[in-house]
Formats: sequence, structure tokens, C-alpha cells
Amino acid sequence: MARSKEELKRDACAAIDRHHEDIIAYGEAVYHEPELGYKEFRSAARFQSFLDSLHIAHRDNIAITGVTANLPGRTTKLRVAIMGELDAVLVPGHPDADPKTSAAHACGHCCMQAALTGVAWAIQEAHLMDDLDGDIELMAVPAEEYVELEYRNQLRKEGKIHFLSGKQEFIRLGVMDDVDIMVMQHTASTHDEKIKATAASSANGFVGKLIRYIGKEAHAGGAPWNGINALNAANIGLMAINAQRETFRDEDHIRVHPIITKGGDLVNIVPADVRLETYVRGASVQAILDASAKVNRALQAGAYAVGAQCEITELPGDLPMIVDPELADVMYRNLCMLFGEDACQCIAQGSGGSTDAGDISHLMPTVHAYIGGASGGAHCPDYRIEDKEMAYVTSAKALICTAIDLLADGAAKGLQIKGDYQPKMTKEEYLRDWGHIE
Ligand SMILES: [Zn+2]
Ligand SMILES: [Zn+2]
Repeated sequence: MARSKEELKRDACAAIDRHHEDIIAYGEAVYHEPELGYKEFRSAARFQSFLDSLHIAHRDNIAITGVTANLPGRTTKLRVAIMGELDAVLVPGHPDADPKTSAAHACGHCCMQAALTGVAWAIQEAHLMDDLDGDIELMAVPAEEYVELEYRNQLRKEGKIHFLSGKQEFIRLGVMDDVDIMVMQHTASTHDEKIKATAASSANGFVGKLIRYIGKEAHAGGAPWNGINALNAANIGLMAINAQRETFRDEDHIRVHPIITKGGDLVNIVPADVRLETYVRGASVQAILDASAKVNRALQAGAYAVGAQCEITELPGDLPMIVDPELADVMYRNLCMLFGEDACQCIAQGSGGSTDAGDISHLMPTVHAYIGGASGGAHCPDYRIEDKEMAYVTSAKALICTAIDLLADGAAKGLQIKGDYQPKMTKEEYLRDWGHIE
């Protein structure tokens, strides 16, 4: 006789509790070994040897550092992926930053990795798969943070990646092809707040742009009339972007925030090589593409005004996060069980930030919960993992209990959520329209 959902959850949580010191130690070890995206070699190796120690087979080096391990159910009616992120973020000035790279786990991704080990302990020791009608695939995914654009663009040129974010690469490489539902959680700061956990939240998407204005050098004092000033072109381009802002609708949450990364070469030469980077963020693909076209038109206008050239390299950013209310509700009920109803909310209005879980949410039901335990500002020097039990251990319970709800009883709940879900695009449309892959 198969165990009931309640019995499975009880056994899973008991296994996690038995290993809570191992799980915390794992998370702390990762915390002290922060690595930036597509360079998470030590964190990936740590996860590989952890899986080896539990005799769980795995695939390695996916999208450079990704690791996956599929645990088959007694039947395979459905496959649920549980994801954790491998990368850290760049925070010079964080006391626990790597002295060489300035990478620090100031976004809590060490907690996601620890939670994956908790999930693995639960599956293994409570023999969960014997009573589940679908597979659970553990996924340690690289490069959630969209940083080091120049470096990653170089990896693109070398053909090592196409997308700058790891989950996007997982889609492209077919890792998500047989996955039906994606479940994950992210650590949040809980300082002074009543709410300890949130099941789901919307988020902005964006496109990235590398911009280069090409002018013509001339002596800036002797004969500037012989030059074409690329910095003037960039200035007009930036002003022209600002002239678009009143056309952005409030509900689209458009954010355009360019920086100049190179303003010229030498002060007495007319600038001929000027470079900018920008994101164009928004709440929907249509809104992002609409704003992106206006931004490109504005950038070109700067070049047109002075007779310079403008090269724009489009980089596919993250898609907006789409909340699946039914799936969010499954996570929410488990969070209530773990934290109490007063400390949980089901769906929060998202911030202007972004995550590559948004890309997954366009292809399959996805839940990206926020669980407390951190303090300080995300990506800031004061960020700490304060409540280690909550951040490292309770998060694992939330993940596995949600997977149990989806896969127990003939995977009825999971199949229902899959059936009700309308994909926003196919993988082919995603690669063509968002990834510009023909
Ligand atoms: Zn982050
Ligand atoms: Zn993060």
C-alpha cells in the first residue's frame, strides 16, 4: 500500500531533520566558496561528489557547470524539476567576498544548493520514489545573475553558450524537454517582517544591449571639423531615449537604465569609439519589445544627427515571471504547514527585478517561492544568512513537500496543473523569437 501524502511528507521531513547539520554545513561551505556564473566549478564539483556519496547518478557539465540527477518514480506520469542556482553575485566590500574575484553569496544561492541536498536526503532515506507516480529531477543550474556581459558575450562568440543565463541554456540544450513542472525557492530577507515565506511573485523581464558608436578621430583642438564625434552621438542617443519615457505605460513597468562604459580614448582626440550598455525591462514580452524598438530608434537617431554609426548587439535577457496560481497554491499550503498561516502569503506583486525562472514559466507551470532566513539587502555588503535552519533546512522541506503533492496519488494534482496550463510559447518559438536562433 502506498503511503498517503501526509505520511510521505512526515517521512521526508524526518529524514531532513536527521540531516539538518549536514545540510547547514553544506550550505555554509558553499557560502564560503562563492563563484560567478558559468565559473561555478567548485560548487558543481561539490554537488557531484555529494550525489556520488548517495549513489545517485548524474549528468555533469551542462551549460558549462550545470548538474542534473533524475530520480525515477514507481511510474512516470510526470516529471518535476527541482532547481537550485550555483552562482554568486559580485559584491566588492562584502566581508565574505572572495578576495580575488569579489564574488559573494549575497543573493542566497548557497541556500538553494543546501536545500537540494536536503531534498536528496529525503528522497533517498524515506524511499519517496517508491510511492510517487512521476520522476523528480534535481537540477543545479549555473548563471542566474545576469552579470559580466562582456565575458559572457565572449563565451557566446566562442560558441560555449548562446544565452547569458543558465536556465535559458537548459531550455536550449533540451534539458527541460521532458520536464512538466518546475519547482524552486529563493532565500529572502525577513528582517522586521511578519511574512516569512511567499509562494510566488511576478517579476519584470528584459532585453540587454551592448551599444557601440563609431565616429572618426581628429585632433580635438587642431582640426575637430575633420572628426565625427561618437560621444556627441551617444549624448543625443541618451537624450532621445529620455524623450520616449512619456510613451511608456504605467502598467508595463518599463525601466531603461543605460550606462556609458567607454567615453573616448584620449581627451585631445575627437572620440571615435564610445560604448554603452543597457537593459530594457518590462512586465510583458510585448511591452519589452515595443520599448526596445523605441530605444533602438533613439540610439540610431544620435548617430544620424552627427553622421556616426551605431552598432547594437541584442542580448536575450530574462523573460517576465508568470505566476501559475494553482501551483502557487500547492506551495502556499506547504509553507503554511511549515511556518503557520499568519507568516505566509500566496502571491505577491513582484518588484522590477528579473530572474531566468521567468523563461521557464513561459514554457511550463513554474513556482518560484521566497523563503526567509537572510538579513540585509540582496546584492549588498550587509547581506547575511541569519536563520540557517530556515534558509537551508526548512526550504528543503517546502520543496520536497510540494513535489510530493504533485506526484502522489497517481500524480493527480501535477497532471491537473499541467492540463490547465497554457504555454505562452513553444520551445521553438522561444529560441527563434527570444533567442534570435534561426
Ligand atoms: Zn540576485
Ligand atoms: Zn538570486
